[in-house]
Amino acid sequence: MAAAETDREAPSALCSEFLNFSAKDTAAKWLLASNLPKEVYQHLACYVPKIYCLGPNLNPQNEDLLAPLLLQSPLEWYLCGEEPSVGLAKLEQNNQPSQLCGHVFKVGEPTYSCRECAADPTCVLCMQCFLGSVHKEHRYRMTTSGGGGFCDCGDTEAWKKGPYCQKHEPNISDSSQKDPLANMTEEMIARTYNVFSIILKYAVDMLTWDKEDELPEGLEPPVRGDTYYCMLFNDEVHTYEQVIYTLQKAVNCTQKEAVSFATTVDRDGRKSVRFGDFQFCEQAKSVIVRNTSRQTKPLRVQVMHSSVVAHQCFALKALTWLGQIIRYSDALRRILCQVGLQRGPEGENSSLVDTLMLCDSKMWKGARNVYHQLFMSSLLMDSKYKKLFAIQFAKARMLITEENLMTTIIRTFVDHLRHRDLQGRFQFERYTAQQAFKFRRVQSLIGDLKYVLISRPTEWTDQLREKYLEGFDAFLELLKCMQGMDPVVRQVGQHIEMEPEWEAAFTLQMKLTHIISMMQEWCASDERVLIEAYKKCLSALTHCHSGFTDGEQPITLSMCGHSVETIRYCVSQEKVSIHLPVSRLLAGLHALLSTTEVAYRFPVQLPLSELSPPMLIEHPLRCLVLCAQVHAGMWRRNGFSLVNQIYYYHNVKCRVEMFDKDLIMLQAGASMMDPNHFLMIVLSRFELYHIFSSADCRKRYSRENAHKDVVQQNNTLTEEMLHLVIMIVGERYTAGVGQVESSDETRREIVHQLCIRPMAHSELVKALPENENKETGMERVIDSVALFKKPGVTGRGLYKLRPDCAKMFNLYFHHYSRADQSKAEEAQRRIKRQNGEDSVLPPPVLPRFCPLFASLVNILQCDVLLGILGAVLQWAMEPSGGHWSESMLQRVLHLIGMGLVEEQQHLIGSADDNDTNFNFTLKISRPGEAPANTPSILALLETLQNAPHLEVHKDMIRWILKTVANIKTTRECTASAPPSDSSGHSQEETVRDKDKAERKRKAEMARLRREKIMAQMSEMQRHFINENKELFQQSLEELDPSTSSTLEHSPSSCDSALVCVGPRRWRAGGSERRQMVTCILCQEEQEIRTDGKAMVLAAFVQRSTVMSKNRKRPPHNPDKYDPLFMHPDLSFGTHTGSCGHIMHSHCWQRYFEAVQAKEQRRQQRLRVHTSYDVENGEFLCPLCECLSNTVIPLLPLTKTSCSSEQPDLSQWLSITSQQMKALLSAHRKAADAEGVDAMDGVNDCPPPDGFKLDYTPKNPYSSTIKEMLTTFGTATYKVGLKVHPNEQDPRVPIMCWGSCAYTIQCIERLLVDEEKPLFGSLPCRQDDCLSSLTRFGSACWTVSSHTTVQNHFIRLLAALVPDPRVENTPCILDIDMFHLLVSLVLSHPAILCLDSSGLSADAAQLHFLHLVTVAHIVQILLTSVPEEMQMEQEGGGAEREEEENVCMLYNTLRTHLGSGLHEVSSGWHLWHCVKAGILPYLRAAALFFHYLNGAPAPPELHTLGAGEWEALCGYMCLPSNLLQLYYNNQQLMEPLLQRWCSHPGVLQGLQSSVALIRFPRESNHLIELPGDYSALINQASSFTCPKSGGDKSRAPTLCLVCGAMLCSQSYCCQTELEGEDVGACTAHTFACGAGVGIFLRVRESQVLFLAGKTKGCFYAPPYLDDYGETDQGLRRGNPLHLCQERYRKVQKLWRKHSITEEIGHAQEANQTLVGIDWQHL
Ligand SMILES: [Zn+2]
Ligand SMILES: [Zn+2]
Ligand SMILES: [Zn+2]
Ligand SMILES: [Zn+2]
Ligand SMILES: [Zn+2]
Ligand SMILES: [Zn+2]
Ligand SMILES: [Zn+2]
Repeated sequence: MAAAETDREAPSALCSEFLNFSAKDTAAKWLLASNLPKEVYQHLACYVPKIYCLGPNLNPQNEDLLAPLLLQSPLEWYLCGEEPSVGLAKLEQNNQPSQLCGHVFKVGEPTYSCRECAADPTCVLCMQCFLGSVHKEHRYRMTTSGGGGFCDCGDTEAWKKGPYCQKHEPNISDSSQKDPLANMTEEMIARTYNVFSIILKYAVDMLTWDKEDELPEGLEPPVRGDTYYCMLFNDEVHTYEQVIYTLQKAVNCTQKEAVSFATTVDRDGRKSVRFGDFQFCEQAKSVIVRNTSRQTKPLRVQVMHSSVVAHQCFALKALTWLGQIIRYSDALRRILCQVGLQRGPEGENSSLVDTLMLCDSKMWKGARNVYHQLFMSSLLMDSKYKKLFAIQFAKARMLITEENLMTTIIRTFVDHLRHRDLQGRFQFERYTAQQAFKFRRVQSLIGDLKYVLISRPTEWTDQLREKYLEGFDAFLELLKCMQGMDPVVRQVGQHIEMEPEWEAAFTLQMKLTHIISMMQEWCASDERVLIEAYKKCLSALTHCHSGFTDGEQPITLSMCGHSVETIRYCVSQEKVSIHLPVSRLLAGLHALLSTTEVAYRFPVQLPLSELSPPMLIEHPLRCLVLCAQVHAGMWRRNGFSLVNQIYYYHNVKCRVEMFDKDLIMLQAGASMMDPNHFLMIVLSRFELYHIFSSADCRKRYSRENAHKDVVQQNNTLTEEMLHLVIMIVGERYTAGVGQVESSDETRREIVHQLCIRPMAHSELVKALPENENKETGMERVIDSVALFKKPGVTGRGLYKLRPDCAKMFNLYFHHYSRADQSKAEEAQRRIKRQNGEDSVLPPPVLPRFCPLFASLVNILQCDVLLGILGAVLQWAMEPSGGHWSESMLQRVLHLIGMGLVEEQQHLIGSADDNDTNFNFTLKISRPGEAPANTPSILALLETLQNAPHLEVHKDMIRWILKTVANIKTTRECTASAPPSDSSGHSQEETVRDKDKAERKRKAEMARLRREKIMAQMSEMQRHFINENKELFQQSLEELDPSTSSTLEHSPSSCDSALVCVGPRRWRAGGSERRQMVTCILCQEEQEIRTDGKAMVLAAFVQRSTVMSKNRKRPPHNPDKYDPLFMHPDLSFGTHTGSCGHIMHSHCWQRYFEAVQAKEQRRQQRLRVHTSYDVENGEFLCPLCECLSNTVIPLLPLTKTSCSSEQPDLSQWLSITSQQMKALLSAHRKAADAEGVDAMDGVNDCPPPDGFKLDYTPKNPYSSTIKEMLTTFGTATYKVGLKVHPNEQDPRVPIMCWGSCAYTIQCIERLLVDEEKPLFGSLPCRQDDCLSSLTRFGSACWTVSSHTTVQNHFIRLLAALVPDPRVENTPCILDIDMFHLLVSLVLSHPAILCLDSSGLSADAAQLHFLHLVTVAHIVQILLTSVPEEMQMEQEGGGAEREEEENVCMLYNTLRTHLGSGLHEVSSGWHLWHCVKAGILPYLRAAALFFHYLNGAPAPPELHTLGAGEWEALCGYMCLPSNLLQLYYNNQQLMEPLLQRWCSHPGVLQGLQSSVALIRFPRESNHLIELPGDYSALINQASSFTCPKSGGDKSRAPTLCLVCGAMLCSQSYCCQTELEGEDVGACTAHTFACGAGVGIFLRVRESQVLFLAGKTKGCFYAPPYLDDYGETDQGLRRGNPLHLCQERYRKVQKLWRKHSITEEIGHAQEANQTLVGIDWQHL
């Protein structure tokens, strides 16, 4: 209690002291002080606790007022030595601003980096600078900033080209290198120095202060109260929900307060949750700690003395002040930098900046933000200190030389991974992957290392070499700890018990991948460094090996007359590791070495002599054998961890520094060995040696039948071994291995991806390895190998292989998985067949090897390989009984093909190269020597050519034999004569071949066709309805007699005049009226009859604002709202749609009950949600799964007969008004009788002749139809008003008429927008929907209280024919005339049924039409005359009369309204306004009467174009000069006009500032979006959350309907809606879209559809990159541009009211969407 009182009194008590304070005097005192720091501290000690932290709120407003006055002002006075505003202005004038932009990025702001010119990917530009830079025309990448960071514009080191934008272009005359301090007086410099050092030190001390109850020396407050804060700190362990829950318990606050606390903690890093005495705060602390300590470590809470908090608050203010004051002058900035970086007495790393950075992680977020801001505006903006500061922040390569940073980082890194095995290798069993690598330090160390390495040196100094190699040594130490880590041993017998930890090691490998590559690139840039590094790496590898080979005894292998010594080692029995980074680094360096000058000229000088090739290949070979064995199923019992490792080994993220390098190492080793020796070792490691070395290996099929599994395994191993040989000889696309450039490698990679199928840009990017800059190098080569095909409205742009590139295709491309390989093979064969070519896929021509690798080709012609090939071919002589495989044979044939291609290349190249001892044909023609005279390979092939069991390989064998023949010819020719045509075939042979090929092609095509048909059929059987929904639906509609019925459109029944309304209207004959439909559920046919079984259409009713002209109108109160008159702003409507599928009502009821029951069971069991809400009456159409929530009954056309003479308008009006009078008094009497105290003095009015007030007509409908009438009516009422169903409510029929009118208006707009004719272009489902909706409208009164409907009619009519007895009639400006027309026509039957005098409905309809039309004309004239007048224009003679009429009418209106209307003299213009304004109404009315009365439309309305006006008027029995409606009945109309104008609302409406609704109402469209996506990002980045005071919103989301930007998916902007907390989007949806919303999530580049609180889905955004792809999540960063077509598609979905349906389909297709809490977005 006491605390509360002091709270109130404190400021007033201090007031006088504050008023007497003089900043000037204080500053003067300081100027004289001998110990300035002490003086200032005293001042702060005195005042800070008096201003800050006096109450529970940490930041009350008076602090912001007092602090500048009492604390900052004296500092500024001291600094300037005069009035601060004067002094600072002078400083600013003398300032010469720096050339750096330095714009600090806000969260979510777009940043741009140029892929061509940025020194490294961290160099970025702000949007403004980017737009003014040259890079705009380059290939750039766009990302959104995570906040912090600054624009590098103007920094010449950051950009290879174009470092300045237009704005920051330096002025040449300006001497930018001038010392900024030159303009400042010595005294001022000294004073600034003093102030800055005191204040910065104070701030640093306070922000890094960790005592809760004490202050630094000199700051102790004069008085100490018992006032404390309980401060809650942010951590990354606890969830929002946990914090909120705990706070509610601990400090007794509401949920709302707790949310606000938690939000602040999350944003600022800390928040005081309680203020009071120590005891009071301690208590809260202990509750919080207790409550959160159970699950994890407790939340961090401190009880801090208020004076400590006060000084911390001011310290932040002081930093902000420093940041502001240095903006006045670069000189001040320079001084601040000096102060900050000056070493303290403790020596190294003791500057204030160092102190702050070292304590970074200890500080709370709010404090960190403030000091980061200051750094960026000071240190990074100063041209001199930017570099100095960079050392602290680890940038630039001088770090390596001057700070030896590389070594330091790596050593620190290694220290962090402490657990090692006996050999010193990392051991990760004790970490989980998360523990080891979420560990920030390790992550950031790798980041730092990358940063150091990112810009490669162009020039090397000796010092740099030395330091780099020192770092390289450290790096090797790190890799040595990884070489051989996580070894595996094959599990035999039983499965492993526990999956071993493997992810940590792979995560480490993945993180280091780029570093390893960058290390190599550094080495590659200097030959001396490369050779030194190579030596170091080699010795490291030797060192690793010495530990491994223990106990492995030497054995001798011999085969085909060759023998070699090796060690005994079995992958399947001993330890093997997939991690060999040292070997792989050496492999990389070896390839680099091979590209150097030295390697070409003096290979002897290379340190190759020290190499032991068998040692080099040993471990990589083991690793590859491991993969082969896993593939062969030998390691099944080792579980998934091994499978995963093998997967990553080959994966694009790792393979560059794993699989690829192992292959290079094998190539390097093999190139230095006798190929026979190499292959024998390979065979031995594959555990196949015993098979191929045995004397009778060619007879393998006769033995080994016993162990099927072993045979199978050995087959797979043989296949893998052959594949390995293919790769070792054939993979030459690495620079250094083959004579290629890196672009060749990329090109080949792309070709092989596209050989599988055409691919999108992003798919290709994913399949290619990215370098540290996330570049694949694809852009440089893609166009040379692929053609781009643009996307349509859906799908993506695709790259397709250029046909001439198919010849590069290699079936055994090393990066193909087996699945890729077979897909590519199939695709390539298919293309060849389609082109009528032979479908053989021979090996491609390869680039030549580099000299160091040149000897690899000899593997192809070595004895051991030929022995292997011969053996397999021999096995293949017999049909396979499992002892050989097709793949094995295919690989053998491929190897032979490679030999031949190689030989051909050698022959071509032999002219300039005397190295032609490659004679493969000779070798394969030689019969085998041992043991018996076995046939030669060529002989074997010739035999196999005719083997019936080898049909699939025939084309390859034939190709081989042909090529052999060609080579022989060439050899003979080159030996004797100049080469001639290489084709050695006789004419006859070619013809026969062609014939055969053609026949084969045809047979193949027939087979494919058959297969396709079969596949289609089975597919259709399985998913007949689901999958072929549209097809099915279409065919159904074609067959269905109910749809596109001959009845309505058949021209046969037209008589000369097609009129849809009035006594002269077209009538259907009896037979034409019959309508047969089929129930989709029971398949029975049924005639639509008044007294028959009810048939219903599945329908979906929804509220809509699609046509709203006033989104600001607040939603109506559902309980009180009177919907009888629709306002012309159409702000809320009820739309009804249908999929057009027809059912018996009882079939539907049974179906719906079944759905309900199923849902109940499902929810009980699984608590799953569905895409539809059964409790709300939703279901999916049983045929097309379209979301529905009710059914519309189908009704026949009402029977009418041509009646006798009908009264004209005035007669009819007088009869009607008599009827109304009679009805009114009767109703009042009835009310009286019920005891209600009604008005007296109501005269008893006698009803006109034949009008029977007490008559109750018989309901013509069958009971089921009546039931369905009620069902649909109630549903429309319930959804339209958002109320509980109540079939008795008088508003039920109103809602039905309203829905009918609104839906027709929507469709009329849609047809205009899509430029379709009014009739004949609607899809059947809409046609059916409108017709049943209209007919339902005319029948729905029969199931309501007749009195109610009659009353509605009386009120509706009174709007046109004002009646003093009817109250609350709106003025004609406030009525939508089409709604009025529809309601009048549809409610009139309730009056007409009482009449027996022969009045016809047709006459009444026509009279309504005329009256409403006149009213609408008046409405248009009142609202649509613009202020500035158009030029007088001469119209045609026919128009003259109309112009005169309209002018007269307008002037009549002016006489009634006077000043309310402008003077107008142009009749032409007025008539134009009327015609344009009334057209939508006429069109809607035509649709309405068409569906109501069934009259076919005239042909002119089935087409677009001229004549529409006349046709419409004719169809509706209107004069084409509509003004005649007025002038022909002037006596009647004139008084009506007068009464309309005399309604007070008219004048009010015309004079009010609220924009009048003008006609025609324009169609609504979605908001305009900028062409460039970054404009949106920029817009969103400056958007702040409206609720949390200037904070950045995390998920800014744009409403595409109204353009509002919302703070989505965040607690701060949750609001309560119908008793539930919902996110900003859902809340907005209810106001803006009546529950339906279309948003663009700007950060995600994703469209969001929402419907209600539970439904939603994501939709592809209308922004595409240059490759025709969207970038959902903005991950790729390519520039995105608006695709109008796609945006229009979204708009069309919206206008068609199909958003909810779209969500339904998306949710049905993807169940995970159902579980998302959409209402929180
Ligand atoms: Zn900039
Ligand atoms: Zn700039
Ligand atoms: Zn550029
Ligand atoms: Zn049925
Ligand atoms: Zn359907
Ligand atoms: Zn909106
Ligand atoms: Zn917010």
